[in-house]
Amino acid sequence: MCYKVVERYSVCKCLYFEHSIDPCQAYGQRGHTVQEKTVLVGYACDRHSRSSGGPRRSDSGYSSEKGSCR
Ligand SMILES: [Zn+2]
Ligand SMILES: [Zn+2]
Repeated sequence: MCYKVVERYSVCKCLYFEHSIDPCQAYGQRGHTVQEKTVLVGYACDRHSRSSGGPRRSDSGYSSEKGSCR
């Protein structure tokens, strides 16, 4: 069976790289299908890796107003 390797990002499933079809002897025959072989790469793409975690929210580490001696 022919197969085509498609590499995708494992986080967002975007297309990373699509290889050319590796044909067998039955390639082009009627009813013959090309098996798609998905290989995941272990990170997100450039677009989705930047917005990781959604909108930024300020951490509550600066609330030191109470308890101050005056
Ligand atoms: Zn084939
Ligand atoms: Zn993506």
